[in-house]
Amino acid sequence: MKNHAQAVIIGGGVVGVSVLYHLTKAGWRDVLLIERAELTSGSTWHAAGGMHTVNGDPNVAKLQQYTINLYQELEKVSGQSCGMHITGGIMLAGTQERLDWLKMTQARGRYLGMDLEIVSVDEAAKLFPLMDKKHFKGAMYDPIEGHVDPYGVTHAYAKAAEMGGAEILRRNRVTDLKARTDGSWDVITEHGTVHAEHVVNAGGLWAREVGRMVGLELPILAMEHQYLLTDDMPVLAGLKEQIHCIDFEGELYLRQERGGMLVGTYERAGVPWSQRTTPWDFGQDLLPNDLERIAPSLEIAFEHFPALGTAGIRKVINGPFTFAPDGNPLIGPIGGLKNFWVACGVMAGFSQGGGVGLALAHWMVDGDPGADIWGMDVARYGGWATSAYTNAKVRENYSRRFRIRFPNEELDAARPLRTTAVYDRLAAENAIFGEYCGLEHALWFAPAGVAAKENISFRRSNAHQHVAAECRAVRDAVGLLEISSYGKFEIDGLGTTEWLNRMMANRVPAVGRIALTPMLNERGKLIGDFTMCRLGQNRVFLIGTYAAESYYMRWFERHLPKMGVSVRPCAMEYVGLSVAGPLSRVLLQSLVHDDLSNAAFPFMSFRQIDVGMVPALVGRVSFTGDLGYEIWVTSEYQRALYDLLIAAGRTYGMRLFGGRALNSMRLEKSFGTWAREFRPIYGPYEAGLGRFIELQKGDFIGRTAALEEKQHSAPLRLLAFRVDAADADANGDEPIWHDGKVVGAVTSGGYGHSAQASLALGYVPSELAAADSSFEIEIIGTRHAARRLDAAAFDPHGLRMRS
Ligand SMILES: Cc1cc2nc3c(=O)[nH]c(=O)nc-3n(C[C@H](O)[C@H](O)[C@H](O)COP(=O)(O)OP(=O)(O)OC[C@H]3O[C@@H](n4cnc5c(N)ncnc54)[C@H](O)[C@@H]3O)c2cc1C
Repeated sequence: MKNHAQAVIIGGGVVGVSVLYHLTKAGWRDVLLIERAELTSGSTWHAAGGMHTVNGDPNVAKLQQYTINLYQELEKVSGQSCGMHITGGIMLAGTQERLDWLKMTQARGRYLGMDLEIVSVDEAAKLFPLMDKKHFKGAMYDPIEGHVDPYGVTHAYAKAAEMGGAEILRRNRVTDLKARTDGSWDVITEHGTVHAEHVVNAGGLWAREVGRMVGLELPILAMEHQYLLTDDMPVLAGLKEQIHCIDFEGELYLRQERGGMLVGTYERAGVPWSQRTTPWDFGQDLLPNDLERIAPSLEIAFEHFPALGTAGIRKVINGPFTFAPDGNPLIGPIGGLKNFWVACGVMAGFSQGGGVGLALAHWMVDGDPGADIWGMDVARYGGWATSAYTNAKVRENYSRRFRIRFPNEELDAARPLRTTAVYDRLAAENAIFGEYCGLEHALWFAPAGVAAKENISFRRSNAHQHVAAECRAVRDAVGLLEISSYGKFEIDGLGTTEWLNRMMANRVPAVGRIALTPMLNERGKLIGDFTMCRLGQNRVFLIGTYAAESYYMRWFERHLPKMGVSVRPCAMEYVGLSVAGPLSRVLLQSLVHDDLSNAAFPFMSFRQIDVGMVPALVGRVSFTGDLGYEIWVTSEYQRALYDLLIAAGRTYGMRLFGGRALNSMRLEKSFGTWAREFRPIYGPYEAGLGRFIELQKGDFIGRTAALEEKQHSAPLRLLAFRVDAADADANGDEPIWHDGKVVGAVTSGGYGHSAQASLALGYVPSELAAADSSFEIEIIGTRHAARRLDAAAFDPHGLRMRS
């Protein structure tokens, strides 16, 4: 056994071997995979091997496309068959809403170059004759669905990796991991120790155990999953292989297996497996069947596909596989642990394994995943994703696998978990809450006598008129919003300014001032957008996206000098309230001694101010685009501050508003937001953030690439659109059409209540953005005229926020 390797991958399931192969492809030869038993000895060996390109996150969908297209290459390189059957697949809609969902999915796929087709029930029945037409309303056809042989795929990756120089050690368990001071690792195994520069946890069913070796509790849980194989069915005899089929209403998937069918289900009452620890002696084992549990789905299967009712059951497979709380993989480096990587929680290894391996290998070799993998980044979870939280969310996610998630739908599991001090106050005001990083925040408020419940829909919901009233209150008088759910960081030390000037693209503002700033990676792409508030010579309060707190910290830690600067995340220590609207100044002035006049406390000021008895940090800024103030306090003061503002607000007709109204107002100001408009695939000039790039200040991370982007004009351009839509607005990922072709995709959309217009933001090629203003945006299967806005739909000169 060798005693040193550049990288050791722990786990020889489909994910581990894919990482191994992609590392060799990226040029690392000295790589070793250690497998405790034989390859495939986790969830991989009993998988149904199905694969498909459709995913709710277009960036994950792209990696799925990559995975499926990779199998041919793998076969060629390795000489090992992957047992590929590209049959095509059909997704059946049993309700109008599901058909709408399919139309939206098809539309979203257009921008990704996916060849999806909406077909009638008759056409669907021609493609998949086992279905009984009367249960369905329509369907979507995908020509590149199919299945592979899990054993063949895993061994093809393994062989191809070995041909690239990798080694694989079988029947040798990694029992412990010890970090050396230089950031490398001692990988302790049953048969000796290997010193590795990098370690990858691809432990699948045992990824939690491997994580615990380094003090990490990963938010993953295995669920039992059953599928059955029927005896040979006479109706299939002589026919060509049946295509894949998903029946959403039955929560079923089907495909042909030899002369019979394979039928699987994600039942509502799913059961977790090994909730705390995975036994090491579990290997190529199966779990006992529980047909009772899936009986309701099987009954539907017999109704919707009558021939199944007459077929005998040849075999039932019940095996466990792992999920993260949102069902997407967990990949990337772990903050605080040098050279320790994870590639786990992959619930669709045969659709996603290739993309996961590709992204992780790029990340390890080049320092960047090379694609937008935010939806899979392990850093999207923080300490709040405890194992009990994970348990509740994974069960919910499993049971909803084939259900529609409406854009305005909030899910119930694991709630309420995190609440701020004003939660009860807001609840008493009929708040309808949403959940974000486990934290409850108000979406909108139902007026007295109106039920605090939102109807889920693809179209405008019952909340529309109430959100309109909240926006009116802000635009005409003053509104109060809780703003606790932002990420916050306290940065201090003698090196603060110098360090931040290197990390951020904008210049650190003067003491008492605020500056908005993008953060770029070396490739000049957007990896953050922040509000920098300078409190003192060496003290900055940094505000950003809370969901990205660990993502930012991982980057900050990587670039922190040994001494002179400290960065402390303090999101829940500092909570906040914001007052916004033309009367917000008089309201706040009635509670403070400091002069809040425009001359004394102008737009983008930041200062320590006592509000009544409450010591606060106050910023003259508002995401509503109106005159407004953000007031940050340590959490024990939040209730007192709230009560004070509410009491004072009565004189000014103040009204509470929530996240929905805020979104409407930021859209009519064309303000972008992280993970929507700002993502690591866009450059700052593409995103319209050029005015925040301070190229003159000296070097900063991403400067060279940003300069290049500026000089050679960015390929894309973020535009704002006014959309001719009647009762449904864009939401995100809808295609943008021009001249009969799909040229871009929406990043966010909604109704601008003050502008009284349906609005959207989205990227299109720069040459089109400059040349023409007429586009179309496809919403629920219908193309609507969309006119480019040359200035914000509301207060285009920004006079109100500066007044
Ligand atoms: C019944 C069923 C049907 C499925 N159907 C499909 C499907 O149709 N399509 C699809 O895409 N996916 C399907 N899946 C899911 C798929 O199986 C998983 O996505 C995939 O197997 C995950 O692979 P992995 O490599 O992450 O984990 P695993 O397969 O669990 O591999 C982990 C490996 O790590 C090894 N290991 C762990 N700890 C150590 C250690 N300390 N030292 C050494 N080795 C270690 C284990 O022995 C194991 O071999 C199905 C799963 C089940 C159970």
